Amino acid sequence: MTFNTSPALKVQFVSWHYRLNNQWWAPRFITDIIQTYSWLIRAYPLASKIIFDGATGNQPGLHPSLWFVTDDALGAMVDRSSAECEDLLVTKADGTEQDNRSLCASRYTNNQMGTMRTENGVPESRFFYGMITDAAGFFPRGQACCQPNVSTGPTGSNTWGWDTDGSYGDWYAAHEIGHTLGRGHPDLQVANEVAENRCADLRRALQPQRRRELPARAVERERHQHND
Ligand SMILES: [Zn+2]
Repeated sequence: MTFNTSPALKVQFVSWHYRLNNQWWAPRFITDIIQTYSWLIRAYPLASKIIFDGATGNQPGLHPSLWFVTDDALGAMVDRSSAECEDLLVTKADGTEQDNRSLCASRYTNNQMGTMRTENGVPESRFFYGMITDAAGFFPRGQACCQPNVSTGPTGSNTWGWDTDGSYGDWYAAHEIGHTLGRGHPDLQVANEVAENRCADLRRALQPQRRRELPARAVERERHQHND
């Protein structure tokens, strides 16, 4: 059995603040954001260490940095009233409607974070992850799309029937950042392969050089418009 050094996972978190119904809505600092850091080091094959160095170093572990962004346009994306959301209400060939407007807010914040990356010179080796609260009564469905190594997900206190720690933003973030790392959803074939050769699979997951290859595949994934 060979062990490889843990990679450095660098994530620029963005806590999105929006206005709806004459009120500001934002992720909770401890329950949503800090619990997400904790989930990532516990669930990922990553050194169980959080390094607050502004994502400049390369020590094994999670290197989070955090921006708080207030956006006057975001509320209308979250409640789907913005004209920018209309293209997500699609009429299918059989004439029925498919309403994808819950993806409007995350598409918007992903594009905004792509612009922030350029404006601030943040390298693509540092992922962006945006968090949007569902506390205003609308579910802003998450996705890894539209910009390289950028994703957004919702957060809130729903248990989804199993998660009793007060926030689902933690595992949702791990899910979306997993897509950015090139991981897809499990399917029967993959599940069988993992069951047959779990050690080999874990070894692959732990190899730092394999991780470095993943962002290119994440870009490829975007072309397939994966969206949850
Ligand atoms: Zn997904």
